[in-house]
Amino acid sequence: MKYILIIGDGMADDPLPELGGRTPLEVCDKPFFDSLSERGVLGLVQTIPEGFPPGSDTAIMSIFGCDPVKYFSGRAPLELAASGEALPEGAACYRCNMVTLGGDEVEPFAERTMISHSAGSIEGDESDELVTWLFAQPEFKALADAAGMSVRPGSSFRHLAVQAGGDIAGIVLAPPHDHLNEKIGPILPRGNKNAEVLLELMEKANELLEHHPINEKRRAEGRLPANGVWFWAEGKGARLPNFTEHYGATGGVVSAVPLCHGIAVLVGLEPVSIPTATGEWDTDYEAKTAAALELLRNHDFAAVHLEGPDEATHNHDLEHKIYSVECLSERVAKPLCAELKARGEDFRLLILSDHRTFMRNGAHGATPVPFMIYDSRERESGSGLGYTEKNGEHGPFLNSGTELMPMLFSK
Ligand SMILES: [Zn+2]
Repeated sequence: MKYILIIGDGMADDPLPELGGRTPLEVCDKPFFDSLSERGVLGLVQTIPEGFPPGSDTAIMSIFGCDPVKYFSGRAPLELAASGEALPEGAACYRCNMVTLGGDEVEPFAERTMISHSAGSIEGDESDELVTWLFAQPEFKALADAAGMSVRPGSSFRHLAVQAGGDIAGIVLAPPHDHLNEKIGPILPRGNKNAEVLLELMEKANELLEHHPINEKRRAEGRLPANGVWFWAEGKGARLPNFTEHYGATGGVVSAVPLCHGIAVLVGLEPVSIPTATGEWDTDYEAKTAAALELLRNHDFAAVHLEGPDEATHNHDLEHKIYSVECLSERVAKPLCAELKARGEDFRLLILSDHRTFMRNGAHGATPVPFMIYDSRERESGSGLGYTEKNGEHGPFLNSGTELMPMLFSK
């Protein structure tokens, strides 16, 4: 028996006026997803525990059977784990996004606007070059050294920063994707003395990056400049329970984002990267599917995570949110199941959106998401319903994402 998990990041949404009161899942053309859901179990699951900020960190931890209430210690340390680097005692780790700040540079920093949490989905080489340049600038380096801060370039907008002795007690750092097109004043670092240190670094970064030749070139080409860094997702060392010990299966996690790879490493699964995967709607769906199938030759468990629907939503791109869900159904789930069938393998497959991401404001939501579990042996009668948020209301309701893995591995 093989066990497969497919996560479409941020697929689930709320009804939209521009879709005639329907959700993207309700309008998209995904016959394969719907056929699995009709023949399998379809329900709703509360992946985000009450009181936790909605995001893939807590949601995906809970999907992998790790209760965030017990184990969550910030997103950035989970991502750092993907590289195999252990956080030194007392150090703090942050996400250091490349962002686009709007407004005029002569205005006070707090008056600037959060235009893009990803500097317009900046490419890895430009992003790495900019952040490496920034941390080497004498003016910035002096501040960073005094703060104990160093950077780990991340090959996309997602860099990490490690701060020796970083005090995060009481600190409030805002996820930039939840505040798109808002003034940054109210969301700047606050809450303790160290927040002022981070703010000073962010202001200096903006001053230095604003007219970097790469940014001038990006502007000239109609692209968004990466004229700021944004610290958030703070945390200290992370430890998670072992997946193989709990479920008796070895395997891996195919993803383009460090968060999923970090969770994989921490639970004892293999992190699998695809050179042609982008973490956006234009990713290499076929290569990700092939990597999952390769894992399943020698292991019993494979997870495939697709970031595309979430990023498209943050970028207010409804067309490609729908497109990436359709690809997940027809170019990932369908060939994956066909190949397992051809190999003569029985399998159980869990498909879900880790959390909702709302087209109306580009932010994550904490309300329950639809999940489906399909068993290739088809021994029980299915839900008879396609995979949508509303149809999930007719099936079982799981109070916690941690109930999913036991359910997947139950038979
Ligand atoms: Zn997101």
